[in-house]
Amino acid sequence: MNGAIRANLKKVRHDKRVEQKCIKCRSWKLIDGNFGKHSSGKHQVICYSCKSIANKDARDKDLRVRLRHHTASRCLTQLGEHTPEHFTANLGGYLGYSIQQLLVHLKDELRLREDKSLKVAIMKEGYHVDHKVPLHTFKVLNEGVIDWKVFQDCWALSNLSAISAEENLTKGGKVGFDVRTQEGGEEPQTDVTEDGTTNS
Ligand SMILES: [Zn+2]
Repeated sequence: MNGAIRANLKKVRHDKRVEQKCIKCRSWKLIDGNFGKHSSGKHQVICYSCKSIANKDARDKDLRVRLRHHTASRCLTQLGEHTPEHFTANLGGYLGYSIQQLLVHLKDELRLREDKSLKVAIMKEGYHVDHKVPLHTFKVLNEGVIDWKVFQDCWALSNLSAISAEENLTKGGKVGFDVRTQEGGEEPQTDVTEDGTTNS
């Protein structure tokens, strides 16, 4: 029975007036309801469901870009004039993990703690990345020399979590970093320190 149906499906001829093959998933779908239109009136060659997957990937990438940008910004504020050359380019090496690892850590931790999506929390609900042991308590600079062991303890994944803005405020009014507020990508110039002042 099933075999017969499958054999039949293989023989199906597609009516190109009403059906189109998506170049991404390679399945034939009714044009109506599955493919958008260009302004020229031509139908798009990628179906809606493939497009929504592509958009999701772009947003995931966007979250990584933002996390990277804001982590780098805070490190630059913390290290100030002592920041090594090419610090941002080698961020992962200094932190001891990649931004992808940071993202996975925050995602898993928030899922366990609040059963919530990191992307929604950060992009839509204003969650901040918080240092459980506050950043300012780490003595990263010792007479102008960076103690990289202390720096890595400060930035250890186990010391970072994504918390709501409200929770962040009740922790004593310390400002974490709101990854929604700046566009990522470019070299960070200024950032807000934990006591709310702006450094450059
Ligand atoms: Zn498709």
